[in-house]
Amino acid sequence: MARAEQSNAHKVRGIINLLGEEVTAREAATASTTEYLEILKALDAHKIQSCISIKPTQLGLGIGKTLFKDNLGTILSAAKSFGNFVWVDMEGYEYMPDTIDSYLEFRKKFGNVGVAIQAYLKRSEEDVNRMLDSGGIVRLCKGAYNESPEVVYKRKDQINQNFSKLMRMIFERSKGFAIATHDEKLIKEAIQLSNVHHADFEFEMLMGIRDKKKLELVERGYRVSEYIPFGKSWWAYSVRRIREHKSNIFLLARSLISG
Ligand SMILES: Cc1cc2nc3c(=O)[nH]c(=O)nc-3n(C[C@H](O)[C@H](O)[C@H](O)COP(=O)(O)OP(=O)(O)OC[C@H]3O[C@@H](n4cnc5c(N)ncnc54)[C@H](O)[C@@H]3O)c2cc1C
Repeated sequence: MARAEQSNAHKVRGIINLLGEEVTAREAATASTTEYLEILKALDAHKIQSCISIKPTQLGLGIGKTLFKDNLGTILSAAKSFGNFVWVDMEGYEYMPDTIDSYLEFRKKFGNVGVAIQAYLKRSEEDVNRMLDSGGIVRLCKGAYNESPEVVYKRKDQINQNFSKLMRMIFERSKGFAIATHDEKLIKEAIQLSNVHHADFEFEMLMGIRDKKKLELVERGYRVSEYIPFGKSWWAYSVRRIREHKSNIFLLARSLISG
């Protein structure tokens, strides 16, 4: 909350994520749901400009789709009553089809929900088209999980090329979306596309990464949000970040020291 408030002071919005994933007990999924409800209440009470981002397996998708949907439905209703927004993170490939299908179902009923699409997945063009056909709100990111070469592009140039392609499709057809990357070249491409398409979109980056760039984009009039993870279950998230960029180990150390 404090970090989101600090970011708000610089006109950067927050995206709060309670760390935790792959829960194996129903009680843990319920506890995460309850905590998100508390977060939504606190954001509203303190007038903090921040939405939330949930992980499907944190709400029980690994235990059962019905459990996940019940919990997500509860969170979406609460978020709607507060006029807030919920992002659904995309996790490993095995959860992807259920996440997309559940998202599209919820999207019919809720205007306040978006979903991450991973550019490293070979099937993402098809999913982006499905999203665009049904008014889905997309957060385009590269993808962070270690998947088989059968389903993902492994080379950076291939992933970046697919990101550019999907981004162009989204700019051409979508009304609201997010571009989630720290990659200078892709940010530049997004700016060029926005000059042509005048879309309603935002840049999203992770807490602690490219903070100067966030402020520069705000200065230039772009909407920027930062993903703020918190909580005790930090291991899996931290491993993904360090795998992406070795220097993120300093970010982790700083977070641990500052509590
Ligand atoms: C808001 C948000 C939400 C996300 N949600 C999901 C999700 O739901 N599912 C999912 O699989 N993934 C998600 N991701 C993670 C994403 O898929 C990537 O794994 C992650 O963002 C790194 O990719 P990148 O686009 O920054 O490109 P990279 O190829 O990792 O980096 C590109 C360039 O960015 C700069 N950079 C990157 N990291 C640093 C750093 N620490 N310090 C300085 N410069 C840096 C460097 O110049 C680097 O060359 C999310 C990312 C963000 C920002």
